[in-house]
Amino acid sequence: MIDSYLPRMAPQSDPHLPASTLRLNVDRDALAANWRSLNALSGSARAGAAVKADAYGLGVDTCVPVLRDAGCETFFVAHWGEVAAVAVHVAGGQIAVLHGPLSEADCAFARATGAIPVINSLEQAGVWTATGGGPCHLMVDTGINRLGVALCELGDPAIAALRVDLLMSHLASADETTAMNRMQAELLGEAAQQVPHRRLSLANSAGIALGAAFAFDMTRPGLALYGGVPRAELAEAIRPVAMIAAQLLQCRNIAPGEGVGYNATFIAPTHMRVGTVSIGYADGFLRQRGPGNAFHHEGRRLPILGKVSMDMVVVDLGEAPDLRAGDWLGVPWNPADAAQQSGLSPYEMLTVIGTRLRRTAAL
Ligand SMILES: *Cc1c(COP(=O)(O)O)cnc(C)c1O
Repeated sequence: MIDSYLPRMAPQSDPHLPASTLRLNVDRDALAANWRSLNALSGSARAGAAVKADAYGLGVDTCVPVLRDAGCETFFVAHWGEVAAVAVHVAGGQIAVLHGPLSEADCAFARATGAIPVINSLEQAGVWTATGGGPCHLMVDTGINRLGVALCELGDPAIAALRVDLLMSHLASADETTAMNRMQAELLGEAAQQVPHRRLSLANSAGIALGAAFAFDMTRPGLALYGGVPRAELAEAIRPVAMIAAQLLQCRNIAPGEGVGYNATFIAPTHMRVGTVSIGYADGFLRQRGPGNAFHHEGRRLPILGKVSMDMVVVDLGEAPDLRAGDWLGVPWNPADAAQQSGLSPYEMLTVIGTRLRRTAAL
């Protein structure tokens, strides 16, 4: 009996489990449309999709089938531990693992699943070849100094031993207009002269907006698929994807001088009606999201009062005194809206979406 109440017993289908007070709606049509737009903007290049970090917080199980059905054929994850969830929906050979293999176990896992490693160093090239080699991608560092083989290492025999499908690099500042972008594209062109490869790839979401000279054979959008707009040129092409709603748990009247939330950082200047909303840190609604942000209900603005306090936020119901416990409020979560970011990057806004909230997207 007890067993049926344990979370591992598929909570979504448990008839005893009441509905969540939180909802993440992923607009699947918008996600598909964003991939098609980015693929079209990539010109003769094909767009892949970065689906690491559980599809930037929106859920692999929700997003990968949509991207696959829209026509995407290459899916980038960061960790080996992210392969299995994507492989439920696409063939292993369509999955590329950006962090590459550090160990023989990583290589064995790649061969067992068919996932393709991105080789980032001479050491990674060595372990991949020593364990049997086979098709791989190769990341060349052209200035980000994060992951990738240095240009001066490309003549190494460890590189010559590889069978490179995608020869790729990553732009450090594609969201800015800087000479560094052009320089990185030129350096990838130089690398292409030195390393036999099947295809070239450089642009992330922002890089796609830089134009045809950056598209090469494959682009790798992530953020913009999920509604982020890293460059103004993409604003028209990208639709919001994540819609988050949370229920009011309680409403109350407070008197002048009373405080709200942890540390009472908001003190009521007058009589007020306020409401407590069911969303907090564990859902990805961090304290930075508090100041200046507002929830909304049918066009009415409900400013956040005080600190986000663990699993709850208190809002001003002055504009909506009719609201009651159980009513649903729109949570400010459009990563394209700079005003909502409150010190977080749009990447952070998405990837911090917590599992408690993410689970509701699959419903
Ligand atoms: C995450 C990532 C991307 C996607 O970048 P966005 O800026 O989210 O579009 C592309 N390429 C690599 C190597 C990445 O790590």
